[in-house]
Amino acid sequence: MSTHPSFEHWLQSRLTAHGFATGGVDGIVGPNTRGALEAFQRARGLPQTARADDFTVAALRQTASRVPGFVRPLDSDDEPEPMQAQRFPRQRDVAAFYGPVGRNQVLVDVPWRMVLAWDKRRVAKRMSLHEKVVDSARRAIDKTYRVLGDDGIDRLGLNLFGGSLNVRRMRGGSAYSMHSWGIAIDWDPQRNQLRWKHPKARLSHDDARAFWEIWEDEGWVSLGRERDFDWMHVQAARL
Ligand SMILES: [Zn+2]
Repeated sequence: MSTHPSFEHWLQSRLTAHGFATGGVDGIVGPNTRGALEAFQRARGLPQTARADDFTVAALRQTASRVPGFVRPLDSDDEPEPMQAQRFPRQRDVAAFYGPVGRNQVLVDVPWRMVLAWDKRRVAKRMSLHEKVVDSARRAIDKTYRVLGDDGIDRLGLNLFGGSLNVRRMRGGSAYSMHSWGIAIDWDPQRNQLRWKHPKARLSHDDARAFWEIWEDEGWVSLGRERDFDWMHVQAARL
């Protein structure tokens, strides 16, 4: 972000669009812009860093009219919902948002060595994902590799692909699985079995937190982080 030549202009114009005055869009991040940033973060229930961190940038990207103010009382135990999560629909709205199951798929390259979890002799170079989630998935996959490297990938089991597109019903139900649209990815299913909780599930360990935050910054949802089950799974749909 910081290497983009017009990032500061973008930042100021987005703050202004959201109703937070920066003292002009001059590309110079001074006290006025930092104050606007902090006020925006406070209003949205974000950590008040007065910096354009990933969380804040994602919230600024939202259309101003679609971002509600932070209305929960201050003594609420609820975490504010991350605003960038609103990029993707709720589970109940996925059919309207993504269309028919099994369609509009794109093959996405994975830059590290990955094999099929259920047949480790077979290399998986790509995964099938819905065209509406491809950009965010590519960013998350590439950042995962930059942050973790081959050693971290192998340690967490991200080299063991558990599947993405798979048109099927949810276990024990008639509704389609999120995998049916190619908007969910499973990793290392053997060490993250469906009903396993923290700390039994491998991806529930502290060293996987950076991995999950990368996906969450893109609006994806971990069932493990949200509900403490199915730690293999990440999806582009809110609960
Ligand atoms: Zn899954």
